[in-house]
Parts: sequence; structure tokens; C-alpha cells
Amino acid sequence: MTVANAMPSWTDLIGLDQVRAGFKAAIEQNRLGGSFLVTGPHGTGKHTFVELLARTLLCRLSSPEKMSPCGHCESCQQVAAGTHPDVIRVSKPKDKATIPLASFIGDSDVRMQEGFCHDVRIRPLMGGWKVAVIDDADFLNEEGANCLLKTLEEPPKKTIILLIAISEQRQLPTIRSRCQTVRIGPLSLDASSRLLREIQGVQADDSVIKEAVEVSGGDLHAALRLLQGESDKLRQSLIQRLQAPQPDPIAITKIFNEHIGEAGKEASKRRAALRDLLSISVQHFRQQMRHEAFENHQTRSITLARLDRSVRALREVDRSANQASLVECFAADIAIGQTGDRGEIG
Ligand SMILES: [Zn+2]
Repeated sequence: MTVANAMPSWTDLIGLDQVRAGFKAAIEQNRLGGSFLVTGPHGTGKHTFVELLARTLLCRLSSPEKMSPCGHCESCQQVAAGTHPDVIRVSKPKDKATIPLASFIGDSDVRMQEGFCHDVRIRPLMGGWKVAVIDDADFLNEEGANCLLKTLEEPPKKTIILLIAISEQRQLPTIRSRCQTVRIGPLSLDASSRLLREIQGVQADDSVIKEAVEVSGGDLHAALRLLQGESDKLRQSLIQRLQAPQPDPIAITKIFNEHIGEAGKEASKRRAALRDLLSISVQHFRQQMRHEAFENHQTRSITLARLDRSVRALREVDRSANQASLVECFAADIAIGQTGDRGEIG
């Protein structure tokens, strides 16, 4: 994978000029602080934004209102390496379904003497800002969220709390109401294409890039994988199954399970593998629709149902606890041409 720049600057945040201007103004007017919910699809720059903001506030050589952290002082390096003493961070352990309560308030024997809520209250060691990050905020459970409410409501002075999440809608209302939302995407088609071309170094025709962005539904990690052709062979074998006159659900499930299995044990990688396959399915049925419209075939309703089913499955990936049944239901519905809309999900 081509990563053009190890230490990005604000100009690398394509499509986020307004966000940058908003934070610059808040810093200049000395009113920055509080809690922020940073949301956006995969690959649009949420983590880059948070790291940049942390470096902007903590850089030793460039004052925050300049919005141009130097990138090589000790502070900048520590932020990038994840070792800065005034940046605290909580994320979901790979083997857990949610962020454990102990991450926020410490284990039962050290309740309130350790954990995020405790660490936030410790004065910044370097005398500047404190940046507190909750990664994977999509995986906050109600218990964890409740512990956070007071902290989110009144962070200490010179402290900024940033919750990073994919979906704004999925956040508990109690969390949403205590945070200002920073929307990082979904980026426009043009901004996505620019990001892939200029930041990720993709070299392809505009139409090819745009197609990949569309197919991946704004998930730019998935778009990048599609563009890099890592999934070429996979695509061929899947499409062969999907376009059979009578698609075989067992064969489709097998392709999915093999590819997901190759992704390893890590949940995020398995989800990415599943998203790739579903993106290929969406792309395939979309193309078939176009083709049929052109040829004036009579099979459009079943293709539309299959397209709808693929889009639906793609949307379910992040909130589904059971990948195996997601795949099985998907394959079964594709075989018979059902949308999978049974009215209870949503
Ligand atoms: Zn610096």
C-alpha cells in the first residue's frame, strides 16, 4: 500500500477545510475545549484529523493558532508514536465486543483510581493541552457510556475529549447530546477521488476511481483495496457464482468463508474482508442492472432484489455480531432473489 506521507499536515485533509477553519477560529479565540464526536465512514481521515489536532495543540515549535505542527519536535514525534504523556487513549480490545468498563473507571480493586475518567482529570504533564481520545466509540456499551457522561459534560480546562466513531446515528443519545459533532465525510465523490489519487497515490482513470468509491459506499479503505486489484481473482470467482442462472448459496458461502478465513482472527480484518466481498457483489449487480436496462431484458426485478440485498448486507457488516449467519442469509437470499427486507432490522 502506498502511504504518501508519514506525518500528514492539515492540507492533506481533503474536503475538510471547514473543519480546519472551525478549529482554527476556536483556538484563536481561546474557546477550544469540551467533547467532540468525530464521525465518518472508514478511510475518510478521522484518525488523521485527531492526530493532527493533537500535534497542533502539543507541538513545541509551532503555536496552536498557526495550525502547522512542525512534525519533528519531540512532542510531534510522541503524538505520532502514541507515546505522548498528555495524550490518553482508550480503544476496544481486539478480542472484546465492546470497550470494557475497566478502561474507563479501572478494575474493581482500583475503581476510580485508574482508567480514562481518572486520567482525564490529571493535570497535563507538559503544562499545555491534554488530549483524550476514545477510539471505537461505536462499541461503547451503556454501562461504559454512563460512566463517561460527567466527564464528557465538564472536561477539565485545557482538555479536549475526542470520540471517534463510524456512525453518528449509532451513538447513544446521552453521548450525542454532550458532544459537538465533527463530521469527517462522507466525502463527495470528487474529494474521495482526490484523496485516493493525491494522498494514497492511486494511479487510475477518473471513472475507475469513482466507480470504486461508489461501490464501496464511501468506505475509502475498501475503495483502495478494490483499486489496488488485490481482489481481482477473488472478484472473478465470486462473480462467476453470482451470475450463474441458479446461484448456488453453498458455493457463495464457501467463497465468503474462505476469504474471511484468510483475513485471520482479528475482527476488524474479517469485517473488512466481508465488506470487500459484498462490495464486489454490489458492483456486479449494479453492472448487471445497467446491462439489462440496455438490452431491455425482463429479469430486472430479480437483479434489483439481489442488488438491494447486497447493499443491505454491506450496511449490516458493522453492526452484526454474527458474521456467519450474515453470510448464510445473504447467500440464501441471493440464490432466490430476495431483498432480505423482513422489516425488523433498521
Ligand atoms: Zn512539533
